[in-house]
Amino acid sequence: MPILVLLLAATGGATFAGIALGLAVWTLAEYVIHRYLFHALPLFRDAHDLHHAKPHARTGVTSWHSLGIFGVLALVLSAGVLAGIALGYLAYITAHHAVHHWTIRPGHPLYGLKLRHTMHHRGIEANFGVTTTLWDRVFRTYRARR
Ligand SMILES: [Zn+2]
Ligand SMILES: [Zn+2]
Repeated sequence: MPILVLLLAATGGATFAGIALGLAVWTLAEYVIHRYLFHALPLFRDAHDLHHAKPHARTGVTSWHSLGIFGVLALVLSAGVLAGIALGYLAYITAHHAVHHWTIRPGHPLYGLKLRHTMHHRGIEANFGVTTTLWDRVFRTYRARR
């Protein structure tokens, strides 16, 4: 994913505005995918339930599937927007991996994220965003960390 971001950003068509727009689009996509695909559609919900049950297990979307989706998006989006979406996705998979696999103690910059995501894993239909709480606040699914 970092290589994809660099390749897209290095092309002449990638602008700062396009990358910023792609990042913004990603944050909403992250929320919608998690809330409405992973928690509502049986095809995705069953696999996502495995992640909720065993958050340390290596379950999730494979890199090949991700690259395939990005390949399709490359047909319709500008390089800058796609680079921004890829950058957001990279931030998401890194943060999500960190909260489940890193030792994060109080005072660490990711500690609040870890608490919010842990609440989500405990069956509360809230805190669907990982990289930002923005859309949880907009759609009133934000729950303060405990
Ligand atoms: Zn979930
Ligand atoms: Zn998780």
